[in-house]
Amino acid sequence: MQFEPGIHQLTIGRQPFAGFPTPNSFVVVGNDSSILIDAGYDDENDHRERMTYIESLGAPPVSELIITHRHPDHGGGAAAIHAATGAALTCHPLDREAIERDRLQGRAPIAADVHGGEVRDLGGLTVEIHHAPGHTPGCLALYVPERGALFATDTVMGMSTTVLRPPEGDLRAYANTLESFRQIGAKTIYGGHGDPIADPAKRLDQLVRHREQREQDLLRVLGEGTYTVREIREIMYTGLPEVRWALAEDQLRTGIAKLIEDGAAREDGDRYTLAH
Ligand SMILES: [Zn+2]
Repeated sequence: MQFEPGIHQLTIGRQPFAGFPTPNSFVVVGNDSSILIDAGYDDENDHRERMTYIESLGAPPVSELIITHRHPDHGGGAAAIHAATGAALTCHPLDREAIERDRLQGRAPIAADVHGGEVRDLGGLTVEIHHAPGHTPGCLALYVPERGALFATDTVMGMSTTVLRPPEGDLRAYANTLESFRQIGAKTIYGGHGDPIADPAKRLDQLVRHREQREQDLLRVLGEGTYTVREIREIMYTGLPEVRWALAEDQLRTGIAKLIEDGAAREDGDRYTLAH
């Protein structure tokens, strides 16, 4: 659906896991050309639904599909979009190998790398490309200054914090990216899942505070003893349903990795504790 002139959100496909919303992709429509941001899952029905929507716009041709990152719910449909529209596929070099191997599988080429700093002029609307690492090393965000619209993919969502799993998640990079988003001063953030965020400054503050709080919690636990990741999860996430254990432990590993890098924590076999 169109949220503001030239900005369309497509919410198509299955939920990645129970209770977590279907992925969003976006069409940004200028006077001369259109750009697609992400392409959902690799699924024939999803693809038909996406194409039906895009064709119904009667918009200028889709010149480019920018794949924000390597995950299946964002880059999965890229090869089919390329085949149907001829759109050039672009992504960041740090996610390129994973996208080519896992998402495209030889069915379509990446036309070009984007590093951040590039600007696309669609006629009446421009799309700025930003490198936004943290969720993955090559994660991208897109900004349309004429609308104050920031497309933050899985880096900022309204209904959930961001999954940072090793080896691709990086907490320090993520924190820096949140700070860079604050400086953009967007009017609206469009996330990779869920509804648009109407008060970006407030949401970004919440996310920063949440990370800081989590880090304090982790430091406190590590200050009480020497624990495995599993034990830390049992202390910090009491009552968490078993289906979420692996995800929570991955989040903890990412947090511990940052503390080790900071010199605040240390590894002792498969156990962790404070450095001092
Ligand atoms: Zn993702």
